[in-house]
Amino acid sequence: MEVIGQFNRGFIVARRVERAPGHGNVVKTDDLFIVDQHAADEKYNFETLQQTTKIEAQKLFRPEHLELTTADELLAMENIEVLRCNGFDVTVDEDALPGTGQRLKLMARPVSKGTVFDMKDLEELIDLMRDRPAGQIVRCSKARAMFAMRACRKSVMIGMPLTKSQMTTVVRHMGAIEQPWNCPHGRPTMRHLSDISSTSRRQHRSMPVDWAAFAPV
Ligand SMILES: [Zn+2]
Repeated sequence: MEVIGQFNRGFIVARRVERAPGHGNVVKTDDLFIVDQHAADEKYNFETLQQTTKIEAQKLFRPEHLELTTADELLAMENIEVLRCNGFDVTVDEDALPGTGQRLKLMARPVSKGTVFDMKDLEELIDLMRDRPAGQIVRCSKARAMFAMRACRKSVMIGMPLTKSQMTTVVRHMGAIEQPWNCPHGRPTMRHLSDISSTSRRQHRSMPVDWAAFAPV
């Protein structure tokens, strides 16, 4: 994508560029996109927080035994690092018998200014781990809401004039996330405007965008 300019201090207008087959030169197309600068930046910041934030943990005065099913216990043990990242510091009690569902002890709980976490959040995390490969980061809904709020605050606002390089950064970041289409609140981050050159627009409307192929110009 190549940034053309800012519209109404809220949107970035960009055009798709392609690599020509064979010689690899950059070819500018007449395919135009409009990017919501706040929604796009917010989505990137949200995904970054989701992936990198280690929620602070507060040590329990007395560690608690977790009462889990054997399957959940195994799941939790495979994902101990993910739980720690979420502020639930869990250790394996070597004295407890396997298969009793009491092998895990909670040593610390997550704390965060403005958000109170409890055991329901631990249950939600274990639930989310069920359909995912071990070690993949999951977040409970309270944490996601917390990250969405933080991401909103640190993102470029509507009404803010942006330089070309700032706009380029926003657009390029979209190529770095898996699902760039909606902000954490569900608002679309970008829309296909039109393909000026095309007489058969319908064909192009559902065309996937290769954000990763964004060419710095
Ligand atoms: Zn926002």
